[in-house]
Amino acid sequence: MPAASTEYVDSYYTRSLADDHKRPALEGDVDAEVCVIGGGMAGLATALGLAERGRKVVLLESRRVGWGASGRNGGFVSHGFACGLAALLRRVGPERSRELYRMSDASVDLIRKRIAQYDIACGPVTNGLANCSWFDDADAVKRRIETANTTVDVGLEFWPRKKVREFWHSPRYFDAAFKTKGFSFHSLNFTRGIARAAECLGARIYEETAVLRTDLSQDRKRVKTRSGSVTADQVVFCCSGYIDGLVGPLARATLPIGTYVLLTEPLSENRLKSAVNAPYGVSDDRFATDYYRPLPDGRILWGGRISRWTDPANLEDLMLGDLASVYPQLADVKAEVAWPGTMGYATHKMPQIGCLQPGVWYNQGHGGHGMATTTLGGELVASAIAEGDERYRLFEPFGLDWAGGPLGTWVAQAVYWKYEMTDAWNLWRQGLRQA
Ligand SMILES: Cc1cc2nc3c(=O)[nH]c(=O)nc-3n(C[C@H](O)[C@H](O)[C@H](O)COP(=O)(O)OP(=O)(O)OC[C@H]3O[C@@H](n4cnc5c(N)ncnc54)[C@H](O)[C@@H]3O)c2cc1C
Repeated sequence: MPAASTEYVDSYYTRSLADDHKRPALEGDVDAEVCVIGGGMAGLATALGLAERGRKVVLLESRRVGWGASGRNGGFVSHGFACGLAALLRRVGPERSRELYRMSDASVDLIRKRIAQYDIACGPVTNGLANCSWFDDADAVKRRIETANTTVDVGLEFWPRKKVREFWHSPRYFDAAFKTKGFSFHSLNFTRGIARAAECLGARIYEETAVLRTDLSQDRKRVKTRSGSVTADQVVFCCSGYIDGLVGPLARATLPIGTYVLLTEPLSENRLKSAVNAPYGVSDDRFATDYYRPLPDGRILWGGRISRWTDPANLEDLMLGDLASVYPQLADVKAEVAWPGTMGYATHKMPQIGCLQPGVWYNQGHGGHGMATTTLGGELVASAIAEGDERYRLFEPFGLDWAGGPLGTWVAQAVYWKYEMTDAWNLWRQGLRQA
């Protein structure tokens, strides 16, 4: 098999990089207090959190900083978790759910603070995320908002369908829940900005440096790469959907799941407004949600789908088909580029943040909602290592459950198909009622 490329995938993000500074690969043996493995948002937030607390950190990344999901995503930043509020309430009850949401909300604030503090050029930064309902049931949307606002205090607004359809000219949409605090940004430039901030505080980051094996049995842990090694008191694994077999318990608890993004050609102002007439990010309330946002130059960044196939052949056509099903008036729009990404999921769809054994930590499993939770995990692990903070234990109920081995992604695919069919069934019944 040819070796996987260490270069960034062709995407909107790589076509608009703020800079392309490359870091060296690790050559030789180095010493550190903490070695972080994986240079996505989880690893970099951990490294920055540690560097801010004065710890000597080395971070090793197989390819480039932000090469994985962190540099390919929809760029939506908001509170909450991939499992959704209802599942979280069922699993841990209202009190712990409230605390977890409060922390995820604080991590959204921290991301904003870091953008300003470290002067990270990750625009366009656009405030506001809407979740539009495909279902003709305003009461259901109101109930969801009421539950979220009363149990976890997230400040969602109800937008009636008249307002929704003034902004988004789609026959699919009814009412919406609007998050004023959420925003969208350039996730790769942000990720790279966090790397630069960590380096300014003394962290050493090596790219094109895959960790091949580790010896975690001694007080001083050894991390081996092709042409070097790191000896450290603490190791933090942040490898997400790319962990392969590096550490058995973490790899076995990880489901690598694909999702995709398309960038359209630029549309004229009038053409864009004939469909998308608001700057906000949009998702919807189907299990298989689309997520998209217009860019200032009239292109649309359109994401969607969840699949066990992490790199399908006909990606542009699939995504253009999804776009046309929401906006038939854009059926002839062309693609500029489309790209896949791999997310690391746990079966419970909550982040896995914790301590495997003394001196061995993990921050992974952020799934499809990781922009804020990776920063949260980074802060929890960094403050646990540097200050003995025990808040990471709030994530203990979401353990390293076995993800099903090679069958796991098939099970996830079957669940996805089941939910897709449920969405289709509900929409069909809605069509009958309206006929
Ligand atoms: C297409 C797409 C759209 C998404 N949209 C959104 C969104 O809009 N909002 C949102 O909140 N979330 C979104 N997500 C999810 C979010 O991007 C992820 O949850 C988050 O980026 C995970 O960060 P991470 O650091 O855990 O993983 P990654 O960013 O994947 O980073 C893991 C890194 O570890 C490295 N690595 C792995 N093994 C090794 C090794 N042995 N040695 C060294 N390095 C190694 C990899 O090369 C990789 O760079 C999306 C994801 C995708 C794929």
